[in-house]
Order: sequence, then structure tokens, then C-alpha cells
Amino acid sequence: MADHVHVRLSQGLSVSEAGELIEHSHCRCGATFTKVFTANDGEPEQPPSS
Ligand SMILES: [Zn+2]
Repeated sequence: MADHVHVRLSQGLSVSEAGELIEHSHCRCGATFTKVFTANDGEPEQPPSS
């Protein structure tokens, strides 16, 4: 299964105490994932200040 590509099946959403939206998902192989959406959505990663 070297070429296995995880399929992220959504299991639902929850909200952390910090107010972050957390998406839970899992692959049929057993791998699990969480994706965190912070409250500061729309704010790109801070570029290194020059
Ligand atoms: Zn997988």
C-alpha cells in the first residue's frame, strides 16, 4: 500500500474551548485526522518580516 492515499471521511465538527472549529475525519485504513480552523480565519500565515 505504498501508494495509499488517505481518504478523509468526515466524522463531524466540534468546537474547542478556545473557540476553534475542529473537523474530525478518518480514513478506512484507521488513520485519523483533525483539521483546526482558528477564529482568525482569513488571516494568512505571517510572512517573515523583512
Ligand atoms: Zn488511509
